[in-house]
Amino acid sequence: MNSNTDEIIEKLDSGEIRLHEIEKYAEDANQATDIRRKFIEEKTNTQLEHIGKYSIDMTLTAQKNIENQIGTIQVPVGVAGPVIINTEEETIETYVPMATTEGALLASVNRGCSVIRKSEGCSVSILNNQMTRAPVIKTKNIHDANKLKIWIEEHFNEIKEVAESTTNHGKLIKIDPIAIVGHFVYPRFVYETGDSMGMNMVTIATQEAINYIEQENDIHVIALSGNFCVDKKPSALNMIEGRGKSIVAEVTVPKEIVEKTLKTTPDAVVEVNYAKNLVGSAISGSYGYNAHFANMIAAVFLACGQDPAHVVEGSIGITTAETVEGDLYFSVTIPDLPVATVGGGTRLETATESLNIMDVKGSGNVNKFASIVASIVLAGELSLVGALAAGHLARAHKELGR
Ligand code: NAP
Repeated sequence: MNSNTDEIIEKLDSGEIRLHEIEKYAEDANQATDIRRKFIEEKTNTQLEHIGKYSIDMTLTAQKNIENQIGTIQVPVGVAGPVIINTEEETIETYVPMATTEGALLASVNRGCSVIRKSEGCSVSILNNQMTRAPVIKTKNIHDANKLKIWIEEHFNEIKEVAESTTNHGKLIKIDPIAIVGHFVYPRFVYETGDSMGMNMVTIATQEAINYIEQENDIHVIALSGNFCVDKKPSALNMIEGRGKSIVAEVTVPKEIVEKTLKTTPDAVVEVNYAKNLVGSAISGSYGYNAHFANMIAAVFLACGQDPAHVVEGSIGITTAETVEGDLYFSVTIPDLPVATVGGGTRLETATESLNIMDVKGSGNVNKFASIVASIVLAGELSLVGALAAGHLARAHKELGR
């Protein structure tokens, strides 16, 4: 083991040691991180003073979270709330940490939380809970493709046993749908993954299952992910079938609160939602029939160690607004929200602290956390659509000379 920083940097310079090999020569991953940063500073003639200041343990991140690390980035984190949520099991009242560089986001979400509080809380239901992996398999011809589809359907119990042998918490619920295109077959493996987001878990389980299917059939597996999963891409399939948590949050805001806090009327909110979120999204071919789900999801995900690439999936969904007996009924439907309270980045010290603010760290908490994320999406939608409606109303009044 060579712990001499200058010597390692010289070897990096000469190509004797490669950038990803520093951990082998340093005392530990913390020292390797410092050496790699120093090397990059020298190579790029930069000062990475702030990237180099952190309190998290880089020996742990090096094991599971990142390679070639040089430090951390800092994103401002604030809180919104408290938000009040009525689930089927309990009433939750919590502050919610959000990390962002977008000024006005937390102020706006905070206003939405205040409207929700004045409306006796929002209601949240989790409709579905599933993580997916869908390989692409090549068969000789369409007859073989169809035979394979039937074979998979008929051998579900054996495949389930093989897949679940790799995990204590993962449960294979179904392999459905199974799409066929030409001689390619795309079976969509659907799992319950407990409190983890589950992508690593279901990838390992599906690999085992696919080995078994390959052993029993004359096929060729092209890739473990055939993009029918659909991971980290916007998709109609995820919108219809759901992925991660499929979740709905709703609130009925009394007319007086709409007028006093949002400075608009239920009718104006309904009109803005119809023209913008529904018709505007329809003419765009967008899957995001909403104002800005991604803003709230990204900020909570960054604060709480979720996989930020899944924001693209979370951005899918529909906001509805109606008047009910003069009051405003407002809802968000989020079909594709991959979240976790164990595994992945949730272990990071800063993520742990953020999850602790909401008392959702660790096993048994993922549904509570998902419900909180949905309530914050609701708060952000309500506030932004409310603000647009207030502007729309003000302009209408001015144009009509009132
Ligand atoms: P993970 O950290 O790989 O796994 C979670 C582990 O926690 C499971 O292996 C499970 O063990 C264990 N566990 C302990 N208590 C649990 C509980 N209450 N509920 C569920 N599991 C529990 O995390 P992951 O969620 O599977 O994957 C997340 C990571 O995958 C993220 O870092 C993400 O960036 C990355 N990712 C990977 C892929 C990929 O294709 N591999 C794609 C996208 C994202 P058992 O399995 O033994 O039950």
